[in-house]
Amino acid sequence: MRVIVLGAGVIGTSSAYYLAKAGHEVTVVDRQHGPALETSFANAGGICPGFAGPWAAPGMPGKIVRWMLARHSPFALRPRLDPYQWRWLIQFLKNCAPERFARNKARMQRIAHYSKACLKELRGETGIAFDHGAGGVLQLFRTEEELAGAEKATRVLAQFGVAHRVLEAAGVLAIEPSLRDAAVSFAGGLHLPDDETGDCHKFTAALAELLRERGVAFRFDTRVIGIRVEGKRVTGIVTDTGTLDADAYVVALGSEAAPLLRTVGIDLPIYPVKGYSVTIEAGENVPAPRSSVMDEHYKVMITRMGTRIRAAGVAEIAGYDLSVRRSGAATVTASLRELFPQVGGLTTVKPWAGLRPMTPDGPPYLGATGIKNLYVNVGQGSNGWTQACGCGRIVADVISGRKPEIDMEGFGIDR
Ligand SMILES: Cc1cc2nc3c(=O)[nH]c(=O)nc-3n(C[C@H](O)[C@H](O)[C@H](O)COP(=O)(O)OP(=O)(O)OC[C@H]3O[C@@H](n4cnc5c(N)ncnc54)[C@H](O)[C@@H]3O)c2cc1C
Repeated sequence: MRVIVLGAGVIGTSSAYYLAKAGHEVTVVDRQHGPALETSFANAGGICPGFAGPWAAPGMPGKIVRWMLARHSPFALRPRLDPYQWRWLIQFLKNCAPERFARNKARMQRIAHYSKACLKELRGETGIAFDHGAGGVLQLFRTEEELAGAEKATRVLAQFGVAHRVLEAAGVLAIEPSLRDAAVSFAGGLHLPDDETGDCHKFTAALAELLRERGVAFRFDTRVIGIRVEGKRVTGIVTDTGTLDADAYVVALGSEAAPLLRTVGIDLPIYPVKGYSVTIEAGENVPAPRSSVMDEHYKVMITRMGTRIRAAGVAEIAGYDLSVRRSGAATVTASLRELFPQVGGLTTVKPWAGLRPMTPDGPPYLGATGIKNLYVNVGQGSNGWTQACGCGRIVADVISGRKPEIDMEGFGIDR
């Protein structure tokens, strides 16, 4: 079949890889001048099935209230006269109920672990380099109260069979010796040795390059304006450079998928949640994480990517506004300066912001829509890098008429 993938982020490019592998003739369309230049550009780099779970969790509403009053907060709400923002918030709060959290977590764990296996296979098949690290992720607790909260997390990890270890301060230093220089004290940590790291942009760019060599067409600088539907079938994609047609179409436009899909009657509750990051060229000799540290205090993840250190976090609900606010960037840099002062003090770098395509319950939407030859691969939220290969594989399987290798329960647009 001829398949057009809309979006060359990590999700669209991974979809293209599996579609091409299945023998389809694939074209990828993106408004940017290259792959992964929007949300997939500078995320925290965590490939973390162990941590994969919904943000809508029991206790979250109380935490949000506390964060809204805190200095260097990991959360900000900028209310808009936007019914979709309010609908998303209400649905998010409803999904904080314990039984919904358990159901959503199980769905996200299913896709995330599958995706890690798919990525491993893809790495073996392609040999692409993306500063991949397999040193695990260390969740760091600064206070006894935060450490006590880890107990609940370990019960959930045990339930899903995720390897983990609770550590006291000495154990934390054994995993990440550079924390010896931290400007703050910490009570302990939770280590997930099987989680991995890597540069999502490098991965996507390398994969796109390889796909081009394999005959996949990339049409950059092409903005999708509309989807032409006739009699419950897509007959073309309208872009600012003309109409494109194919036998099947995959929407992988991140947060932008929601408004576009609404124009053809598919109303998915995906809403952008802005996050920030800074990336510092630290070299080899500056005390910095060996792998990745999740600072539970600020909810900021600090990850090594080769000789660079990336710190990323913050959830700012402010619509499609991509402006880099000083408050958001300050939370990320505060975490870095407090935990790894020598990296934090290295240089003033320009912060980056990206929009996570969040569903209110957590899992993405994958596969068929009510329109015959239109498919979605959207809503991966804060886990898109972790879930990309699994989601791409599943959508390619659905389009190819093959049964996906994992249970599709909870990933449909009708859930
Ligand atoms: C601060 C931060 C930290 C994160 N950390 C992690 C992490 O550690 N681990 C993890 O798994 N995930 C993480 N994520 C989430 C992850 O980055 C996203 O889930 C993922 O990048 C989404 O990929 P995507 O391809 O759906 O979206 P995008 O990368 O945004 O791709 C969508 C593409 O569609 C294109 N597009 C949009 N509209 C149009 C249009 N009208 N016409 C043509 N093209 C269009 C865009 O140019 C873009 O290239 C993080 C996100 C942020 C913001």
